[in-house]
Amino acid sequence: IEWTEGRGWHDAQVRARAPFSIDPASSVLHYAQEIFEGMKAYRAEGNSVTLFRPDQNARRFNLSAQRLAMPEVPEEVFLEAVERLVDIDRDWIPGADGSSLYVRPFMFANENFLGVRSSRNFVFCVIASPVGNYFKGGAKPLALWVSTEYTRAARGGTGEAKCGGNYAASLVAQMEATENGCDQVVFLDSAEHRWVEELGGMNIFFVMDDGSLLTTPLGTILRGITRDSVIQLAKAQGIDVKEAPYSFEQWQADAASGKLREVFACGTAAVIAPIGEVRHRGGSFTIGNGQSPVAEKLRDQLVGIQRGRVADTHGWLRTIK
Ligand code: PMP
Repeated sequence: IEWTEGRGWHDAQVRARAPFSIDPASSVLHYAQEIFEGMKAYRAEGNSVTLFRPDQNARRFNLSAQRLAMPEVPEEVFLEAVERLVDIDRDWIPGADGSSLYVRPFMFANENFLGVRSSRNFVFCVIASPVGNYFKGGAKPLALWVSTEYTRAARGGTGEAKCGGNYAASLVAQMEATENGCDQVVFLDSAEHRWVEELGGMNIFFVMDDGSLLTTPLGTILRGITRDSVIQLAKAQGIDVKEAPYSFEQWQADAASGKLREVFACGTAAVIAPIGEVRHRGGSFTIGNGQSPVAEKLRDQLVGIQRGRVADTHGWLRTIK
């Protein structure tokens, strides 16, 4: 579907996946005016499929659009596009545990104009692909690399938006994590390089020794939909959840003194993944006693709701019959 200044959205169409062409002067190639979302469709009872909180993806997409000076995609247009594609692709969702259909809505500027100003043409598009379980050999705790050199987001910057440029800026830190034998990078804040923010593609939670949860506050991190779901699930069970700044220094001290029981990461791809080890320029440390009962319980509940095994008391599922 295309957007043109003065005309708005027009010419929606469903096409078989194939390359499309854009002009070498297309503004997205030069100024990265581009945003996206990531969501999953799961097989439910019979032949129906479900989406998990797609309204939240639509909402976040439009917050990203505002930040990148792009037109909003009305929520009903966003949801209809996603649902039509999932409906067409439903036979690609095998339903075996762990597999699902990954759905990628995205929008990019497409005006052939080499000048720094917002584009007058945009394209909104949705593609999908079947994906297997994030943990191929069973869930194993992740090792994290704390990036003390590179940061991902500054206050007033685009950290809260899901735009390609944020991920381009994070690649060198993720490469450093891989070179140091870690699965994911942890970013600290850009002003002081002190406060924990989030991972390359996940938000982070700390389980303290009194059983409460702590997660880093919104403002420069991505507004994770899994993060919000974990907060709601934990609170519904009477677990205290704080959204507060947490320094890397405090993290190291709490890990050393045994005040930290568990650390876990969460996001659409892995749902909830326990963290076993943390490495950084100055050394490494492990978390708790290697057990993660809190993360596992929350994971079972969330995966259970997504796959229709646990009652959806929060009204999070949208079923496509
Ligand atoms: N932070 C970043 C940087 C991410 O890319 C993602 C994945 N979208 C997340 C957090 C988790 O967000 P969600 O739970 O909505 O997938």
